[in-house]
Amino acid sequence: MLKIINRFLRAKCILTIAFLMVLVLVLPQNISKAADEVVAVGRPRISVSVNGDSVIVTIKKTENAARYAVYIKSAGSTKYELSGYVEKDGSKKRKYKLSGIEDGSYAVKVKALNGNAGSKSSKAHNFVVSKDNGKDFMILFTSDVHCGVDRGFTYAGLKAVKDSLSKEHNVLLVDDGDSIQGEPLGTLTKGEAMIELMNAVGYDAAIPGNHEFDYGMDRFLELADKAGFPYISCNFNKEGELVFAPYVIKYVSGKKIAFVGITTPKTITSSTPKYFMDDNGNFIYGFMQDQSGEKLYAAVQNAVDSARKEGADYVVAMAHLGNETNCVPWTYVDVITHTNGIDVFLDGHSHDTDYAVVNNKDGQPVQRQACGTKLACIGWVNIDSAGKISTGLYTWNNNESALKLLGLKNDLSDIMSNTVDSVNNKLEEVVAYSDYDLTIFDPVAKDENGNPIRIVRMTETNLGDFCADAYRDQAGADIAIVNGGGIRVSINKGDITYRDIINVHPFGNMLTVVEATGQQILDALEWGCRTTPSSTGGFPQVSGLTFEIHTYLDSTCTADENKMFTGITGEYRVKNVKVNGEPLDLDKTYTLASHDYMLLNNGDGYTMFDGCKVLQESVKLDNQVLIDYLEETLNGKVSEKYSDPYGDGRIVAVEGFEDFR
Ligand SMILES: [Zn+2]
Repeated sequence: MLKIINRFLRAKCILTIAFLMVLVLVLPQNISKAADEVVAVGRPRISVSVNGDSVIVTIKKTENAARYAVYIKSAGSTKYELSGYVEKDGSKKRKYKLSGIEDGSYAVKVKALNGNAGSKSSKAHNFVVSKDNGKDFMILFTSDVHCGVDRGFTYAGLKAVKDSLSKEHNVLLVDDGDSIQGEPLGTLTKGEAMIELMNAVGYDAAIPGNHEFDYGMDRFLELADKAGFPYISCNFNKEGELVFAPYVIKYVSGKKIAFVGITTPKTITSSTPKYFMDDNGNFIYGFMQDQSGEKLYAAVQNAVDSARKEGADYVVAMAHLGNETNCVPWTYVDVITHTNGIDVFLDGHSHDTDYAVVNNKDGQPVQRQACGTKLACIGWVNIDSAGKISTGLYTWNNNESALKLLGLKNDLSDIMSNTVDSVNNKLEEVVAYSDYDLTIFDPVAKDENGNPIRIVRMTETNLGDFCADAYRDQAGADIAIVNGGGIRVSINKGDITYRDIINVHPFGNMLTVVEATGQQILDALEWGCRTTPSSTGGFPQVSGLTFEIHTYLDSTCTADENKMFTGITGEYRVKNVKVNGEPLDLDKTYTLASHDYMLLNNGDGYTMFDGCKVLQESVKLDNQVLIDYLEETLNGKVSEKYSDPYGDGRIVAVEGFEDFR
């Protein structure tokens, strides 16, 4: 019996200990909370009222509080900053006035304090300051400036326009990409001079175009850090994670304006693809590219919806998409028709100045405006108090620089002249002389607006011949191929300076030589001529080669979702290829000169040289190739074989139907 009682007691004891352990595990918070409540102040309750830039925080009376500390945090920052204290007085409500608050989105918290007895914080309270100073607002935008800061309106002119409009309007200024590359100012500073100038102009936001990456990924991310404005893009990602914020909201004229950044997925092939890969050649950076375009549309829609959810009154697309058919399914039309919620679409990339109205997927009209290149135009958007959106261009319709013609003097003109002078000094040395214009344009034909037609991406020109000859000569190769898209400007007859030449090849690509089979060379020509007579950046200008393009045959080239060449399924349009007068032998290997962009980095989708034996890898800067050819081989004088603007007959387009006799 005793045994039983003992066992019972022991069991009870164990149960009691277990029960106490549970209590110890469960109770501490409750116990300490209870202890706190005995001595601490109550949780303060607050309200916030905003009137213009005057923000009043009202604190309702709190038990035991001796004073209150007010903390504020702006959207995007992770830390609350102490703004000031409110002392206890006899009133039921205490007021705290925040002053000097810039437009933006904020959170405020109030902590009730009671000396050593403790403190307690209010819930966070969000508010927005958006000074409605009676002015309406305007957006100014640029795109594809391509380092042309002293062209057209010039940055000094842009600043003057912005300053002048600011007297009547609240002005925001944004850039739609391809700003930092294209001229020696960029080339000789790897983009840095452009970022400094953009900071000085006072941009509010910018997006990366395809050419922001031309100095390499690391360099662009470094430049983005130096920028005094945010780079935004809803589709530029590293392994699925966005690199920048997809949009930014600006508070102006009492409104929240969301800017959504969109970068063309074409960037994968129209900049150096290698910059988007890891060391093993796998793409790690991307732009939501796929065959259908759906990934990009979803990214845009997602950003627009998030901005709306955040309370955006207007959503402005800042895009680098353009209108070219080889950008399908990522043209501005593709994106507008597959999304909703965008109010106005500011576009770049194709250097056009078109205004268009395109219905979105709900059938609502969206205005699209582009603003050309090199500051020939400044785009503007106006949204009046009734919400009516209008957009258009200030146009500087001549070849003069506004800075020079108007004698503009402002803070920008000083900064610009210092920057530009230092670069110019390096560039003015005369390198050679030509009796002939070396051209990328048709010397006769004009488009419907009276502008010259750029033919270097659709047919042979004398500058195309010249460049290809320079590569072949400097490399000592059998043949050379240079992409028409890499030949950027014409060289006028007369003295030729370092500047003239660097402008032809502004990308900083490097001379490269590989061993390629006749079959690979034929495939390359077929790929490069797949759109002829329409233009394409990969169109081959050649040296050591002649061939025909039978344009009545449709191209049967195939490509993957990154627009990379994958094969040819039918009859070749390119025929009668001859190497130095002999028929191309498909099984023979030839030495082929070009640059790293085409031969090593799959630029313009040329993948057929993958795995070729590399004989010379990135040995000389592309524009140095041209200079050395001119100076050393041609002895500083452009020879007579370049006298015909259409070239010396290496590439012949065969039109119409074959003769079946
Ligand atoms: Zn572009």
